[in-house]
Amino acid sequence: MKGVIVIDPNLHPYKKRHLIAHGLAHHLFHRNTRVNYFLDEGDDRFNYWRQRRQEKEAEVSAAYLLIPEDKLNEKLKEEWVKESPDPVPELAEEIQVSENFMRKRLKLKESSNNKG
Ligand SMILES: [Zn+2]
Repeated sequence: MKGVIVIDPNLHPYKKRHLIAHGLAHHLFHRNTRVNYFLDEGDDRFNYWRQRRQEKEAEVSAAYLLIPEDKLNEKLKEEWVKESPDPVPELAEEIQVSENFMRKRLKLKESSNNKG
């Protein structure tokens, strides 16, 4: 399993992109840490929380990888985006990610804006 990302060929292409980016993030950031995915939560709390944290990190990395900040900013400046009551479905389509994933990415942007 080491160094291999397995993707179901029947998945929607957006989902494939998401999973590849997610898997890549695990490979880049977590390959030297050991998380045992076969342990149950009750078996090992430490393992459980580390696993949870790594999942979150992989998701955040995937979001920034698939929807880079500059590309997102560029899109958000477009007139139709400002005028639309909910531009997310169309934005997602243009950037080729799921609607759900696009909403996640926008939330990340919001929270990073609030920090600065
Ligand atoms: Zn994962």
